Amino acid sequence: MLNCDKLIYMTDIEYSELKEMINELLIQMDNSNVYLEEATQPIEPSVAIGRLSRMEAIGEKSVNEARHVNVKLRLEKLKNALKRMEDGNYGICVRCKEEIPFGRLQAVPETLICVPCAEKKKR
Ligand SMILES: [Zn+2]
Repeated sequence: MLNCDKLIYMTDIEYSELKEMINELLIQMDNSNVYLEEATQPIEPSVAIGRLSRMEAIGEKSVNEARHVNVKLRLEKLKNALKRMEDGNYGICVRCKEEIPFGRLQAVPETLICVPCAEKKKR
């Protein structure tokens, strides 16, 4: 039985791999956050924007605003994932309490739910 459990549950190596991924993503998202913070500042009517017209600058700004929302959301989720690692409940689906497969965690390390639960949620 013990061997069986080991097979499904993450190994220490997989666990630290995920932790490293999350930390790296946090740094990336933090950098994007700083950049997007700047990129979403109000555009002064008189500002010289180089080759961009004011209309283009406004279009760009709204794209960046949407990105900024996503980046901030992902930062929150990643921080939450790290907290869950500290608490020892990382990788457990919050809905069905089953272990989330390593492959899914690798694809979306901040995920809180397993694939079957995520699909149920959509319906
Ligand atoms: Zn689940």
